[in-house]
Amino acid sequence: MHAPMRTCVGCRAVRPQAELLRARILLADDGEKVLVVPDEFVRTCSKRHGLSASGRSAYVCPARACYERAARRGGFARAFARKMPAVDPAALWNAHGEALAGMIDLLNRSGGIATAPRVQRLAALATAMRAAVGRVS
Ligand SMILES: [Zn+2]
Repeated sequence: MHAPMRTCVGCRAVRPQAELLRARILLADDGEKVLVVPDEFVRTCSKRHGLSASGRSAYVCPARACYERAARRGGFARAFARKMPAVDPAALWNAHGEALAGMIDLLNRSGGIATAPRVQRLAALATAMRAAVGRVS
């Protein structure tokens, strides 16, 4: 079986989906208000802000440079297939760091061997994000 592949909205590299961070877009019914959040935050954010999640996702390498590039070149708007306000790459990057840490913590506390592969995958992404800090282009 092949691992699903996705394209980074920043550098356009095609990588296994598991190696990429996933951002989602939340919308108000009238399409006016827009929020881009880490996939892990979709449920809490949509509840808190009364917005609904669109089915579309944007995948980004765990690299700060890819967030910057995607924001600069309209990679998020392209992935979400809509006109939208500029994404703040630093804020989204930080939110993703928090999302990973929170999800790892939650999975560890809920325990169970079933969550181990997921924790491993998220921990690898978190490590990659930490390694990428300081290599901002
Ligand atoms: Zn990339």
